[in-house]
Amino acid sequence: MEIRLDGKRALVTGAGKGIGREVARLLTACGADVTALSRSASDLETLRQETGCRVLVADLADAEAARRGAEEAGPVELLVNNAGISIPQPFLETTAEAFDRTMAVNVRAVLIVTQVVARGMIARGRGGAVVNVSSQSSMRGLADHAAYCASKGALDQLTRVMALELGPHQIRVNAVNPTVTLTPMGEMAWGDPAKSGPMRAKIPLGRFAMPLDVAHAVAYLLSDRADMIHGAMLPVDGGFLAA
Ligand code: NAP
Repeated sequence: MEIRLDGKRALVTGAGKGIGREVARLLTACGADVTALSRSASDLETLRQETGCRVLVADLADAEAARRGAEEAGPVELLVNNAGISIPQPFLETTAEAFDRTMAVNVRAVLIVTQVVARGMIARGRGGAVVNVSSQSSMRGLADHAAYCASKGALDQLTRVMALELGPHQIRVNAVNPTVTLTPMGEMAWGDPAKSGPMRAKIPLGRFAMPLDVAHAVAYLLSDRADMIHGAMLPVDGGFLAA
């Protein structure tokens, strides 16, 4: 089964590093015309040189910048809300600042960017597809991840409501829920062998995800091969959530 996205315009947030960068690469390889949005201009410049994609610098933690960034991206048929942050802190030491920032990037920016993009899709009347990059942590508690788990639980719920309200406009909305993935964020949160060992032991397939494992799931959900899949949370977790 080949996935082709020729003639489709795609916006990928958080495309400078990790999963988002791999998604931008893969969607480009599938024929999509990709706009990559992220925070660090240097990451976007190397991605532009590598893939030829269009790039946009915006800080999605800022609500107004998120709205402007989505508007500057222009019309797209495909949206990947991938940008996310993790600020690991024990529950009792979780600060209001870390909580608010995590919610702003992982949840509020998804709301704002998708509102802008979906309004355009509805106006053009040809539907579209959205994939939100959530996490296994939306469905399980992980120590030191109170704000992050709360944000991804909220993102799954946002995904469901978006599916309900955007479905009648033929805009499909789904989420992917990866396990620990080998990216800069994955290294930061799970690089310590004292943490990575017990986590890996809970994954029946016995390994962490590679960014490409997640990108393949995203590309599938964006494609017409997933035309009847809507409102789903797809684990990309080696079976972690099966336990
Ligand atoms: P990453 O390696 O930290 O890369 C995240 C990318 O998003 C970076 O390019 C970053 O840019 C960008 N970004 C972060 N905050 C932003 C903001 N405020 N505005 C614009 N761009 C921003 O993370 P990742 O591991 O690829 O994670 C991608 C997504 O997968 C996230 O939603 C994450 O929660 C989810 N996820 C990750 C894992 C994992 O283990 N890695 C597991 C499950 C789910 P800068 O570096 O310039 O800030």
